[in-house]
Amino acid sequence: MVILYSSRCLDYAAPGHPESPERVRSAVAQLQKDFHTWLLPTPCTDEDILRVHTRELLEAVRLGTFADADTPFFPGILDLAKLSAGAAILAAEHALAGRPAFSLMRPPGHHAERNRVMGFCYLNNIAIAVARALHSSSHVRRIAIFDFDCHHGNGTEDIFRDDKRVLFVSVHQSPCYPGTGLTAQGNCLNYPLPPNTRPAQFLAALDEGLKRIRDFQPDLLAVSAGFDAYKSDPITNMDLEIETFREIGHRIAAVTQSAPDAPALPCFAVLEGGYSRDFARCVEAFASGWERH
Ligand SMILES: [Zn+2]
Repeated sequence: MVILYSSRCLDYAAPGHPESPERVRSAVAQLQKDFHTWLLPTPCTDEDILRVHTRELLEAVRLGTFADADTPFFPGILDLAKLSAGAAILAAEHALAGRPAFSLMRPPGHHAERNRVMGFCYLNNIAIAVARALHSSSHVRRIAIFDFDCHHGNGTEDIFRDDKRVLFVSVHQSPCYPGTGLTAQGNCLNYPLPPNTRPAQFLAALDEGLKRIRDFQPDLLAVSAGFDAYKSDPITNMDLEIETFREIGHRIAAVTQSAPDAPALPCFAVLEGGYSRDFARCVEAFASGWERH
C-alpha cells in the first residue's frame, strides 16, 4: 500500500485538543512496522480548493477570520491544510494508477463545508481529491465516497449534494455531532445508527452502503476513514472493536475486487477522526484488512 505522509502535519497543536499530533505520530509508528511505500505529499493548489470551496473560505483559512469553537486558527494552518489535501489528491492518483493508497495526514477534512470551517476541519481533503479526479481524468466519470467515521460527513455532503457524478455514503452515530445525516436524499445515502451500536449492526449498515456503491458502478472509490466509532473513543458512544476495523478494510477491499479476473476498482482512503489511545491499532487493523483481502 502507498502511504502519503509528511511529518509537517505534526506541526500544530492546541493543548488538550483531542485532534492531536500524537494520534498521527502513533499511527505512523505502528504502520512503519509493516512494509508499505511511504511517499511525501505536495500541497494542493488554490485552484484545487476553489473547485469545492468558496474564495471566502479560502481567505478565511488564510487569515484566521473564521469562528468555530472546535477549530482553532494557527498561523500557517492554510499551508498544512493544503498539504493534507494534496496528500489526498496524490492518494487518488496512485489509486487510479493501480496502487491502493492511504493519506495519513491531518488536519482531517470531512466536516469542512463549501463555505464553512468546522469540526477540526479547514479544507475538505476528500472532496478536493474527488473534484480534482473528476476534473483531470476523462475516464473518471463517477466516484463513490464511503465515510465510516463515527460523525456524519456533513461537509462532503454539502459539497456534492445533487452532483450526479458522485455517490456519498455515510455510516455514523446519531444523535451525535454535527446533527446532520438523518435521512438519505438523492445522491447522499445516510445510515444513522444509535449510540452503543455493536459491531454486527455497524457492519450490516456498512454492507448496505457498500451494496449501493457497487450498484453505482463507480470508476473510483474514495474512503473517509475515521476510527472514532471504536468502543473507547472519548468523544463518541459506539462499540466497535479493533478487529471491526480489520473487517471494514476487508469488506471495502471486497467491493474493489468484484470478480477474480476483473480489473480492481481503484480505491484510496483519507484519514478523518479517531481519538482513543488505541487509535494506531485501529488504523493498522483497517490497513491490513484492506491490504490482505
Ligand atoms: Zn469523527
